[in-house]
Amino acid sequence: MKWFDTHIHSEGRSVEDLRRMADAGIESAITCAFYPIPPEHPETLIDLFRKLEIFEVKRGEKAGVKIYPALGIHPRCIPPRYEVVLPAITRGVAVGEIGLEEGGEAEVKVFKAQLRIAKENDLPCIIHTPRNNKEVITEKTLEILEAISFPEELAVIDHLSPSIAGKVLKDRYYGGLSVQPGKLTSLEALTIVEEYGPERLMLNSDTGFSESEMDAVAKAGSLIAEKLGRDVAEDVGMKNAKKFFKV
Ligand code: ZN
Repeated sequence: MKWFDTHIHSEGRSVEDLRRMADAGIESAITCAFYPIPPEHPETLIDLFRKLEIFEVKRGEKAGVKIYPALGIHPRCIPPRYEVVLPAITRGVAVGEIGLEEGGEAEVKVFKAQLRIAKENDLPCIIHTPRNNKEVITEKTLEILEAISFPEELAVIDHLSPSIAGKVLKDRYYGGLSVQPGKLTSLEALTIVEEYGPERLMLNSDTGFSESEMDAVAKAGSLIAEKLGRDVAEDVGMKNAKKFFKV
């Protein structure tokens, strides 16, 4: 089967790693903007976006993975004068990854500004949820989406845990299942798909700068195919992503 990894940070991986993804049947991937240290200049992010658009797409081609950039200001790398970056975030297939980490005032401001731009431009958003304080921050994230009437079909709430999946899906947003050490196991991803159905779920590996398995989406997808059938696996491992990202 062929797979779509909906959230990676390709620039944190080697060409050999990207080739490993291709060998596992991962045909396409969304590479999300993230800078591993807080940038001192807004232009740092603009050049990062150019790197994803030009260099990472080319590295993907070489390795056999079709890479689509998602551009945005991650809550852990908000630069001074962030407004300078905003006009560039519409150039990707999606705005991302954006969202809240600790949920402070600055994060909320930057998140809202990006959501408004995405809404105006009818662009899907990849929305991060943190490891710490996940339930509270997710609640705050959903309140912000609601307050600006952000279209449900344009938002994927990512890094779902069993504790937030129900609420996110009940509110009709998409949910991202990140199969990665420290996030979900394949079995946990399977359990969430089994409980809520495949309609609004998508698999990803969130592979990037930390330890992770390059073939996580293929492994989880195969387990889902085995236990819940190929159609279900195809929905969460390919079809929903194509529909959501319009690619
Ligand atoms: Zn990420």
